[in-house]
Amino acid sequence: MQKSWTRGKRQKEMSLLMTVNQLASELHCPLCGKSKAKVLSEMDSFGFKVRYYLCQTCGFVFQNFKESAAADHAFYEETYRQLYQATEEPTAKDLRQQRLRAEYQLDLMQKHGVCRLWRALDIGASSGTLMQTINEAYGAEMIGVEPGNAYRKLAEEMGFKLYPSLEQLRSSETGKFDLVTMMHVLEHLEDPLGTLKEIRTHLLEDNGFLLVEVPNFYAHDSYELAHLSCFTEHTLSEMLKQAGYKIMYLRKHGYPRSETLDLYLTVLARPESEPGENVAIIPERFVALKRSLSRLKRNLLTKLVPGKTWLPLEDKA
Ligand SMILES: [Zn+2]
Repeated sequence: MQKSWTRGKRQKEMSLLMTVNQLASELHCPLCGKSKAKVLSEMDSFGFKVRYYLCQTCGFVFQNFKESAAADHAFYEETYRQLYQATEEPTAKDLRQQRLRAEYQLDLMQKHGVCRLWRALDIGASSGTLMQTINEAYGAEMIGVEPGNAYRKLAEEMGFKLYPSLEQLRSSETGKFDLVTMMHVLEHLEDPLGTLKEIRTHLLEDNGFLLVEVPNFYAHDSYELAHLSCFTEHTLSEMLKQAGYKIMYLRKHGYPRSETLDLYLTVLARPESEPGENVAIIPERFVALKRSLSRLKRNLLTKLVPGKTWLPLEDKA
C-alpha cells in the first residue's frame, strides 16, 4: 500500500517535471529566440507561482509569459498597483521615489549630450513626474503611455496627453519623438526586444535618444510576479544592440535606494544609423553563479552597513 502510494507520488512528480521541461523546450528566449532554456528559480510572489528560466544559449533570464499571471491585461490596469502597494492610488512613498528618479534621469541626460528636446514620449509614465521634469527643463511637448488608470489620471491632471497603451498612441499620433523614456518598464513587457525595435522604427527620430532604466539582476532582487525579464548589464546591452541601438552611456547605480548596491541599470542610447540584420549575440556566461555571488554581497552589506545599503523611503521630518 505504502509502496504504491510512493510510486504514485513519484509518477506524479516525474510527470510534473516532464511537463516543466517540455514547457521549457517549447519556450523561445525573448533575447536570442532559441528554445534552450532551463528552470533557474521558482518562488511564490503575491500568492502566484513564478518560475524563471535561464536561456542556455545566451544567458538571458525570463518568465514564460503564457504561464505568468501578468499576461492578463486587467492585471496591469488595476491589480498590479493594488498587489504591490495595497492600493490603486499612488502612495506618498512611490511619488517621492519617482521625483528623485526623475531628477536623477534629467541630470544624466543633461550631462550626456541631450541638449534640446522638442517632443518626448514617456512609456510607463506613471503619475507624470518625469514628464513634468523634462517639460520644465527643456520646454518639450510631452506625451505619455500609462496603463494604470489612477496614475494616468494624475498625469492628465497636470495637463499632459496620455494613452493607456502603445497601440492606442500609435493609432492616434503620427509625429515622431526626439526622446523616448522607459523607466522600469522593459522588464514588464512580453516582447521587450520587439518593443525596442518598434520604438526605433516607428516612434523615434533618427537622431533621437532612448533612455531606459531596469532593475539590475546582480543586485536587485528582480524576482517579482510582474517582472517577465531579468536584465544584467550584459543582456541589456545585447538586447539594445539587437534592436538597432548604439549605447551612449550605461550606468549601474543604487539611486535613490542604496549607496552600496547597484540596484539599477540606466542606459542612454541612440538608433544606429545603419542597424545590421542578424547581429550575433555575445552570450553571457556563469549567470547563476554571478547571481549567487551578488546575493551573498547583498546580504553581507545589509548586515554590515544597513543604513547605507537601504536608504529611507521617506523624507526625514
Ligand atoms: Zn537566449
